[in-house]
Amino acid sequence: MNANKQNFGRVALIGIGLIGSSLARIIKRDGLADHIVVSARTEDSLNKALELGIADSVTLETAEAVKDADIVVICTPMGAYKSIIEAAAPALKKGAIVTDVGSVKGSALNDLGPHIPEGVHLIPAHPVAGTEHSGPEAGFAELFEDRWCILTPPPGADEGAIKTITDLWQATGANIEIMDAGHHDLVMAMTSHIPHLIAYTIVGTATDLENSLRDEVIKFSAGGFRDFTRIAASDPSMWRDVFLNNREAVLEMLQRFNEDLTAMQRAIRWGEADTLYELFERTREIRRGVIDAKQA
Ligand code: NAP
Repeated sequence: MNANKQNFGRVALIGIGLIGSSLARIIKRDGLADHIVVSARTEDSLNKALELGIADSVTLETAEAVKDADIVVICTPMGAYKSIIEAAAPALKKGAIVTDVGSVKGSALNDLGPHIPEGVHLIPAHPVAGTEHSGPEAGFAELFEDRWCILTPPPGADEGAIKTITDLWQATGANIEIMDAGHHDLVMAMTSHIPHLIAYTIVGTATDLENSLRDEVIKFSAGGFRDFTRIAASDPSMWRDVFLNNREAVLEMLQRFNEDLTAMQRAIRWGEADTLYELFERTREIRRGVIDAKQA
């Protein structure tokens, strides 16, 4: 909760899905803004936002939404960034801060940076929290509590703007880390993007099995497959955009993963029990570390 009741003025949320609506719920709950204006692609989502009481006003027009806003938070799939910022740029007021929540930060800087007008600040951010659900009803105010939010301000970014976005995310209960965008993308390729790719691939492989075998896989999914199906149920547009926007880092990590997978294949083929045991013992330690870091 926001004990000091900081006020961020007029906040425009472009996109009101899982992440945008979670942020809106917190801003509403804690009275963090004078006004929340929401924009999305469809009337349905805007009506839902009004119904849920997480928007003070709504519009389909990006320019209308960002007009007079102190903070603009882009909460859409990253493939929409260019068209959104092109529409928003002429309407942004001097001193406004543009930020986003996208899962890849190098491309966020590349797509948004060139369109940011003089006197407007760009502070990209990535809350490292989520679920496999989408849409305005999927959000909840506790989503970011004790999770990380990584800010990737471009070199020379305004310190006051960095502080404002830091304060905003701290008010959600998130812990803040500031990082170079390229480094962020490399870390996320390993911790988030490759695991999703593996889950999508395994579930895809199962889908291609002949009918009887596929039915058995689903029936006995508690053996491990079930956990992959949860991840592989994540939003297709968002994840298509993640892989297209973080291509180099994902391919680099995938290369390493492939080498390790080949080593495992070899260990199994040659009955190298120690190799298998040592890896599984090491990975168990990682799990303990995740639990200790309260990220489980
Ligand atoms: P989501 O639930 O699918 O919601 C996306 C929102 O963006 C919807 O309100 C959609 O409007 C709107 N939108 C799409 N294209 C638009 C456009 N051209 N103009 C205006 N609005 C548009 O997505 P999400 O899970 O919140 O993800 C949003 C962002 O957060 C992504 O960039 C993702 O990388 C990042 N992120 C996601 C997670 C996660 O676990 N989901 C975690 C961290 C960061 P309509 O509903 O009207 O179509």
